[in-house]
Amino acid sequence: MAEFARCYLMKKAVFVYSDDFQTYKFSENHPFNQLRVKLTYDLLQKSNLLSFQDVVPPRMATDEELTSIHDPRYIEAVKLAGKGLLSKEKASNYGLGTEDTPIFPNMHEASALLVGGTLTAVDYVMNGKAEHALNLGGGLHHGFRGKASGFCIYNDSAVAIKYLQEKYNARVLYVDTDAHHGDGVQWAFYEDPDVCTLSIHETGRYLFPGTGNVNERGQGEGYGYSFNVPIDAFTEDESFLEVYEQALTEIADFFKPDIILTQNGVDAHYYDPLTHLSTTINVYREIPKLAHKLAHQHCNGRWIAVGGGGYDIWRVVPRAWSHIWAEMIDKNNVHGAIPNEWLETWQDASPVELPVTWEDPTNMYKDIPRKQEITEKNKQILLKALYPISHLRKDNHNIG
Ligand SMILES: [Zn+2]
Repeated sequence: MAEFARCYLMKKAVFVYSDDFQTYKFSENHPFNQLRVKLTYDLLQKSNLLSFQDVVPPRMATDEELTSIHDPRYIEAVKLAGKGLLSKEKASNYGLGTEDTPIFPNMHEASALLVGGTLTAVDYVMNGKAEHALNLGGGLHHGFRGKASGFCIYNDSAVAIKYLQEKYNARVLYVDTDAHHGDGVQWAFYEDPDVCTLSIHETGRYLFPGTGNVNERGQGEGYGYSFNVPIDAFTEDESFLEVYEQALTEIADFFKPDIILTQNGVDAHYYDPLTHLSTTINVYREIPKLAHKLAHQHCNGRWIAVGGGGYDIWRVVPRAWSHIWAEMIDKNNVHGAIPNEWLETWQDASPVELPVTWEDPTNMYKDIPRKQEITEKNKQILLKALYPISHLRKDNHNIG
């Protein structure tokens, strides 16, 4: 009976959301713009994919939770900065007040809410109240222990992974498909064999943060638990998905996680103004499919997804992120026209023509002459990245 009640009450998925996510705002013209979360929320509602019963509010992360990852002096500095009480000199020691992460009012509270949103997602899934949970306000993967970086103040995913370890004793697989390297999360668990990180990103040769080399594999006990696949600029859908699917399938099989946490930056899209990859909306339909499948295969369904980068907030992010939620509720088959109601609500605010279909235009960009070379290079780097697994298999084989 109790078991029946539990299953009956378990939702397929919850959508963590509050308009207060908009308080995380650097300035009017800053590329990181949380309006995209609201645009996605609204698109899902107007597409009849999101009902009010599935929306849950985020809570604030406590100072104690934040200090599991962040230096207390840094948290203090963020608090002071948000009240206008931190000197310029001190701020720069903490990466605050820079061009990337300017100071804004109440920045501590706004940042702690994004972290709390991801913790809310964790509790829903680990307490069996939902199989999956989505916090598009999170995904701030560049936040460091004592320093803000790359638009990120607190690192919600790193705090959530610590929380999963301490409260639920869970082994976590973190998967980051943002076009930028998931450095903050990687370094936080670089020596920990109970957290496995996979980051697929544009090579750091010309792109922030510059790390994420294939040879960054972890350290000490954690050696072999950090995976990096830096792909070439101008990589297109097929090659991106080939790398993603092979890497994630093999790593999940090798690591056998209790839960999968995916960071869903959508800045590898051709339209994205900050990166140089050439994927289309199709990859964002496919990425959550495999995460979903593997969560059921290995983790009893436990899957948490967060947002991340994504700087074409009008043409790319709302459609791309909608697919994650649609996948979570087994309705990832949206095609054709974008609801008129959504277009009418937002077209005036948008500086560009909004997309009228879920699909991208077929002639979005000209053929890329180096396509074959790029695909081949990505294949080689993938082999290198997975070397610890194939090596381990060979050893086991020899023993067996
Ligand atoms: Zn990014």
